[in-house]
Amino acid sequence: MPVSAQHSPTVRALPAFKDNYLWLIHDGVHAAVVDPGDSGPVLAALAELGLTLTAILLTHHHADHTGGVPALLAHAAVPVYGPRNDRIAAVTVPLKQGDRVQVPGLDVHFEVIDVPGHTLGHIAYYSSARQWLFCGDTLFAGGCGRIFEGTPAQMAGSLAKLAALPDDTAVYCAHEYTLANLRFANAVEAGSPALQARIASDTAKREAGQATVPSTIRVEKATNPFLRYTEPAIIGALVDAGKVDAGAAPLDHFAALRAWKNVF
Ligand SMILES: [Zn+2]
Repeated sequence: MPVSAQHSPTVRALPAFKDNYLWLIHDGVHAAVVDPGDSGPVLAALAELGLTLTAILLTHHHADHTGGVPALLAHAAVPVYGPRNDRIAAVTVPLKQGDRVQVPGLDVHFEVIDVPGHTLGHIAYYSSARQWLFCGDTLFAGGCGRIFEGTPAQMAGSLAKLAALPDDTAVYCAHEYTLANLRFANAVEAGSPALQARIASDTAKREAGQATVPSTIRVEKATNPFLRYTEPAIIGALVDAGKVDAGAAPLDHFAALRAWKNVF
């Protein structure tokens, strides 16, 4: 049996499926998991580290974020935090914008942020004390989630809420999509030195077998085209590619950028 030693809470990435990250928050004794699409990596980590599961936190209803919940509940009957209106039957603590979560067993508090767009009920979990953001499939490193249920206006508004968080906030998104996202960013803002530096840095991480996540709000504001769609260089790229007419509104730029990425 591993010997558990309590420490201040940390976050561990549990890779799952092809490119998902499940996030395990633990203090050496207790653990909570964010978006367990698969129970296998979670149960393995709990056993390896000698941890007791105390909570499940969900950002939205997609199966690659929720599929492991039944098996985890069979392992431990813990509360399931999640959006109030994203059609997740397993949620026992429904949440909405402004709600606060004290994660059971852990010195971690979250504030809930409504971030509709990818799904209509999507929420994010933000800890100001820890400077952590768990944002599911809304803000990605270098990109954003597809707009499956909401509107471009909703997604742009959700991203603006996240971009307003402190610069040092760590962005724990749910997929390793970074290099593909940065290839698109490079197509719309190739002249950005910050973007070129990020491409070099994140490419080196992947070549070394490392995760590029978490990112930070600072890095996203400097390089993520979906937070930079009002930049003249990006608007110029959209116009040059025939994606929008000159003089279009900012929200048209955002929608055109997201539509272009869908087919990039
Ligand atoms: Zn999703």
